[in-house]
Amino acid sequence: MKVIIIFGPPGSGKGTQAKLLAKQLNLIHFSTGEELRKEANKKTKLGKQINSLISQGNLVPDELSTQITQNFIFSNKKKNILLDGFPRTLKQAENLLTFFKKIGCDKILVINLKVSKKELINRILERAKIEHRKDDNKKTIKQRLKVYHNQTKPIIKFLRRNKIKIFNFNGKGNIEEIQKEITKKIKFD
Ligand code: ADP
Repeated sequence: MKVIIIFGPPGSGKGTQAKLLAKQLNLIHFSTGEELRKEANKKTKLGKQINSLISQGNLVPDELSTQITQNFIFSNKKKNILLDGFPRTLKQAENLLTFFKKIGCDKILVINLKVSKKELINRILERAKIEHRKDDNKKTIKQRLKVYHNQTKPIIKFLRRNKIKIFNFNGKGNIEEIQKEITKKIKFD
């Protein structure tokens, strides 16, 4: 099994690029955030808890996101996968590498999308007009960016220390052009 991890702050275009890339490279796209939103829409106790965390711009507990992501990977382990939104904490990254060793994943590549803070806020506010996500408002965006900075960004160094290849891309600009830049560099065979 081979895996691409798409990494970047909220609003960097991870989801958009992930969908295009999955088609081009024949990978199965898994968005941890989308999966959690499905769960959050259920009127169960767990659904309500997830909903409250997401609406405030906080992460759900590592155990939960790890479990749903690993379940997905495990049931698709004969295919190649594109992870979008996982890992998001150092603990999740550690769990993931241990899990990959266990199931015999032989190639991991990371796409790191970089976008300035000002641009991120503008994009998310634009998206809010179309998608009506509960976490796309000014107050929650600030918290999401803070969480990204404190909990998610340090993963890059951790992955590098573990000899995983990171490819940096400028996430500002035209969707198709960014896509071209990515596919020029990412060879996945
Ligand atoms: P964005 O990257 O724009 O924030 P996502 O759809 O990836 O959008 O994530 C939305 C929300 O879902 C996050 O703010 C967080 O609350 C939750 N979430 C997504 N992935 C994880 C994860 N790996 N661990 C914990 N919470 C997560």
